[in-house]
Amino acid sequence: MKQWELTSWKEKTALQQPVYPSAEHLAQVEATLGKMPPLVFAGEARQLKKALAQVANGQSFLLQGGDCAESFAEFHANNIRDTFKVMLQMSVVLTYAGKCPVVKVGRMAGQFAKPRSAGLEVIDGVELPSYRGDIINGIDFNEKARIPDPERLVQVYNQSASTMNLLRAFAQGGFADLHQVHQWNLDFLNTSPAGSRFHSVAGKIDDALQFMEACGIGPGLAQLKETEFYTSHEALLLPYEQALTRQDSLTGDWFDCSAHMLWIGDRTRQLDGAHVEFLRGVQNPIGVKAGPSMDPEDLVRLCDVLNPENEPGRLNVIVRMGADKVESGMPKLIQAIQKEGKNVVWSSDPMHGNTVKASTGYKTRRVDDILREVQQFFQVHSAEGSYAGGVHFEMTGQNVTECVGGAFEVTEADLADRYHTHCDPRLNADQSLELAFMISETLKK
Ligand code: PEP
Ligand code: MN
Repeated sequence: MKQWELTSWKEKTALQQPVYPSAEHLAQVEATLGKMPPLVFAGEARQLKKALAQVANGQSFLLQGGDCAESFAEFHANNIRDTFKVMLQMSVVLTYAGKCPVVKVGRMAGQFAKPRSAGLEVIDGVELPSYRGDIINGIDFNEKARIPDPERLVQVYNQSASTMNLLRAFAQGGFADLHQVHQWNLDFLNTSPAGSRFHSVAGKIDDALQFMEACGIGPGLAQLKETEFYTSHEALLLPYEQALTRQDSLTGDWFDCSAHMLWIGDRTRQLDGAHVEFLRGVQNPIGVKAGPSMDPEDLVRLCDVLNPENEPGRLNVIVRMGADKVESGMPKLIQAIQKEGKNVVWSSDPMHGNTVKASTGYKTRRVDDILREVQQFFQVHSAEGSYAGGVHFEMTGQNVTECVGGAFEVTEADLADRYHTHCDPRLNADQSLELAFMISETLKK
């Protein structure tokens, strides 16, 4: 294999890339971004890799979640706060049930580029290039909005920097206090129609907190007041990723400093493709999505290329088969990985294989299908003797109506009320928490 270089991906086929009207303009923007401070530091990415190594070894659990696509329009401190808050709430429940640390990774502060199955969108006979995320073009259905604009990369960088700043403050500044987070969970259970079902778990967490306090492990302790929170996104738009990739002064290793963790989407994971080439050379923890078409041998080869040292915590296989396909599709992947002795983190993305069109025309997902896929994921791992290491959700702290079901039953007719996503349907705060409680029942078994 040829030596990796910062630009060696350019010799490969890069799918899902926009064609900019002016290559010169893009080059100017790349130069601008190249001078900007990194959004994350190499040491933090290394720390996440260590935390994920614990997941690979069955000693921690991974919770990854956030928007399908962040957007300029929905950018608001309250939205960031609320998604962060729900993830903390979920992680307390999962920590208690799994009796292990939960590694929290947001699809935040950089999740702007979207792969699309179709290059064109047709509405009422009018054909326009597809919307590819706010980092590339605009969502409005008109010709001008859909032209890729390099200036958007700078706006994404700025929005990500400011999101990152707030996340760091929330994680370290007292907002993540365990007692507070537990109180939010109690508030949720008091209002949720499903509350009574989960009161016993919450009661046990209450007891544990009181017991700790009686032992002098009080609220003042840093471990109870602060948390680690990491960021991630799909490394889709390679000029952006390249511009934020820096050489670590300590080790000389390259890190993509646009996020702690980057993943390769199901549409761009070709072994000889540009995305695999780019990510093999950076030392961040990375993920690769595995849909129903993932071939077990290809997965093993992806491990060879992306994780040649077989380092635990480096590679996360994010399985997104769909509730009806996990049971038949996943065992062969697990067996191939086990046979070759590869170290991976297995996590379940129960969103992308369960997208359906509602009778009202909205793209949606059923909470029941999402839960079913996660449960099958756990069952298959248990049968194969491997470790079900985590979950990956598209979710928001907002009270949106995008996925159907849940205890506060969102119906197909409700979808029109608060359907705000710029791409795929997300779980709302209540649905996310309910899922965490339901998964906790699976974890306890
Ligand atoms: C996504 O995570 O938003 C996505 C597009 O996923 P996938 O590559 O699995 O389809
Ligand atoms: Mn999505």
